[in-house]
Amino acid sequence: MVSVEEALEQILSRIDRLGSERVELLACLGRVLAEPISARFNIPPWPNSSMDGYALLARDTREASPGKPVELKVVETIPAGSIAGRPLRAGEVFRIFTGAPLPEGADSVIPQEEVEVQDSQIRVPRPVAPGEFVRPLGEDLRAGETALEVGQVIGPAEVGLLATLGRSRVLVFRRPRVAILSTGDEVVDLGGDVSPGKIPNSNSYALMAQVLEAGGEPLNVGVARDSREAIEERLRWGLSADVVISSAGVSVGDYDFVRDALQRLGAELHLWQVAMRPGKPITFGSLGGRPIFGLPGNPVSAMVTFELFVRPALRKMAGHTKLHRPLIQARALSPLPNPGHRRGYLRVRVSADGGENVAQLTGNQGSAVLTSMVAADGLAVVPPDTTIPPGGTVPVLLLKPPSS
Ligand code: AMP
Ligand code: MG
Repeated sequence: MVSVEEALEQILSRIDRLGSERVELLACLGRVLAEPISARFNIPPWPNSSMDGYALLARDTREASPGKPVELKVVETIPAGSIAGRPLRAGEVFRIFTGAPLPEGADSVIPQEEVEVQDSQIRVPRPVAPGEFVRPLGEDLRAGETALEVGQVIGPAEVGLLATLGRSRVLVFRRPRVAILSTGDEVVDLGGDVSPGKIPNSNSYALMAQVLEAGGEPLNVGVARDSREAIEERLRWGLSADVVISSAGVSVGDYDFVRDALQRLGAELHLWQVAMRPGKPITFGSLGGRPIFGLPGNPVSAMVTFELFVRPALRKMAGHTKLHRPLIQARALSPLPNPGHRRGYLRVRVSADGGENVAQLTGNQGSAVLTSMVAADGLAVVPPDTTIPPGGTVPVLLLKPPSS
């Protein structure tokens, strides 16, 4: 049996980043940039007004005061989207609107609220400083400057910047395609008849949702009966994907055929048991360079082992460098008992209490109890044979933002 850290190291050392593909701008959200992006021109390309007002030459207002305003002549209007018809001359102002290019000859803008307008004259009651209310050329980016680097995660602001730079398609790392297989004679898929002795297939759906949340593309290869042949057949279907995940049938029972089936397909198995609870039996192997995970069957064990081992692997494949969930420190509100000899990952609700995080168990910690997973914001990491007493501090792997 290996530790969680050893298992993770075994897994991640065998995972490579996938290749890249060019995708439509909005589809880049949440993905990792695979090409450096530099500005081909200045942004903004010309100095422009940051207010609705009057473009002028600061020098013309040097003598202005509230008691003795300077009178200047309005000679032209520049709405946003247009450029001035001619340069501005001393003694003149141009009516200008936010975003419009500053006319040649002008060096500043006075907001319309500050001036008095009379016929085609304005009265300026104070000296205006050169550059006032002007956004300079290249204020955001200079031509040739690097805007975004390879490896950056594309969020809404990055999408905006890419649009500013005219990029309608962008090179990003591929999302891993992940085949999901459930195994077990008792497992009935959605829409099927859950007769006595049978159970609904929840793992395929929870795991596909986790794949989506981790930035992958799930591929459902259904439920295999408990036989080597049936498992082998569906595993083979999964080989069109970048990663294969199965659940159940991976322990030491008479009907646990997943490891056998994998070996018969020629997979190399690197890992079997990990010292954690829930989720001791987990297989990790590779087949033709493709990672294969055999997760335990109990619904919470499958989800927790996905979180700890599969999610970081999928993120690495998609080009991310931040692979893990945030680990925070929280104060236990109730005892957090881990009676077993393996490290415990306990489902807890986390909330903020006056500047510190507090954690409490979400209920029954049975590895088949999904409702306590639903209520959990995180997994409290408790050493073997240990109970964290109320008031004690415990590290928590955050799965969601803490509840308020
Ligand atoms: P096993 O590893 O095959 O012994 O399965 C462990 C437990 O997980 C058993 O109680 C199974 O019924 C349950 N289980 C297996 N596959 C699924 C599934 N796809 N959805 C929900 N529960 C499952
Ligand atoms: Mg089984």
